[in-house]
Amino acid sequence: MIDPFGRAITYLRISVTDRCDLRCVYCMAEDMTFLPKRELLTLEELDRVAGAFVRLGTRKLRITGGEPLVRRDVMTLFRSLGARLGHGLDELTLTTNGTLLARYAEELAAAGVRRVNVSIDTLDPERFARITRRGDLAVVLDGAFAARAAGLAVKVNAVAMPGVNEDEFDRMVEWCGEQGFDLTLIETMPMGDLGLGDGARVDQYLPLSVVRARLRRRWTLTESAHRTGGPARYFEVAETGRRLGFITPMTHNFCESCNRVRLTCTGTLYMCLGQDDAADLRSVLRSGADDAALDDAIRAAIARKPKGHDFVIDRRTDKPAVARHMSVTGG
Ligand code: SAM
Ligand code: SF4
Repeated sequence: MIDPFGRAITYLRISVTDRCDLRCVYCMAEDMTFLPKRELLTLEELDRVAGAFVRLGTRKLRITGGEPLVRRDVMTLFRSLGARLGHGLDELTLTTNGTLLARYAEELAAAGVRRVNVSIDTLDPERFARITRRGDLAVVLDGAFAARAAGLAVKVNAVAMPGVNEDEFDRMVEWCGEQGFDLTLIETMPMGDLGLGDGARVDQYLPLSVVRARLRRRWTLTESAHRTGGPARYFEVAETGRRLGFITPMTHNFCESCNRVRLTCTGTLYMCLGQDDAADLRSVLRSGADDAALDDAIRAAIARKPKGHDFVIDRRTDKPAVARHMSVTGG
């Protein structure tokens, strides 16, 4: 599948649920209302759409949410998707908050998952509880260790928030080095309503160019050619031998090399994280379409993939450019 700008679309992110057992301040309101079950694609429908994408040339699937591991029977989906590895699919991965990883790490490995991203914004238990509004850091760390013990490569994702965790990045680089984890820092994206009151969104923006400059005082960072097909720029940390990534949607335009599209848990295909145009694949699935019709609907959507996005935070209204929650689109 080649989009209008010559980019091969080889990477699909699938959000399997909008639900989560945490309420991270930058992601969800505390009193978040979740979708009724009938709105969600069933596990069979998710598998069918993923199968169509693999048939059409998608080589990498990332399962996300919401928190993917809270979806009932989600291991059934991992197993059916894992069976496609080596049959068009090269990689099946997962982004998780880690709360249920200790329970599922072995099963994920058995299904063919080789890498997981675990979101850990801080190594301080109190801060962790505040950022996630209910999380227990020890449980998440146990999850990351269980993943490692099951043979999965672990990458820690941390959202950089000024005045919240910005004093911890040296320690996190060090800790990840000790644990054998890679680390990726993420710039906060202006999505959804924070529910933290006026100004919260603008205040939460910390340019990673600043963070990187600070980290360079202590660490030797060499830009790496490593690409995961994602939007991160990677550096090798000489002192730890691990990789450090930066995802900078606000300060760095990563659209040119975009090879990905996103499927929400309701079967809406977003061709770009920062734009509203979308294709409703659920109605295609539920209209009794055969595989050829489903493939056609996907091809037609890819043909509309836009060139790029333009995230803007309006400082007067403090309104995000795209009022969609990350937990719906899948981060
Ligand atoms: N629940 C899983 C987790 O937390 O890893 C998967 C879904 S979560 C939406 C995926 C990633 O998006 C997480 O690393 C999270 O920190 C990040 N994220 C959520 N809201 C964000 C925002 N407004 N800006 C930047 N990253 C965000
Ligand atoms: Fe849940 Fe992940 Fe959003 Fe945090 S970032 S509330 S863990 S979906």
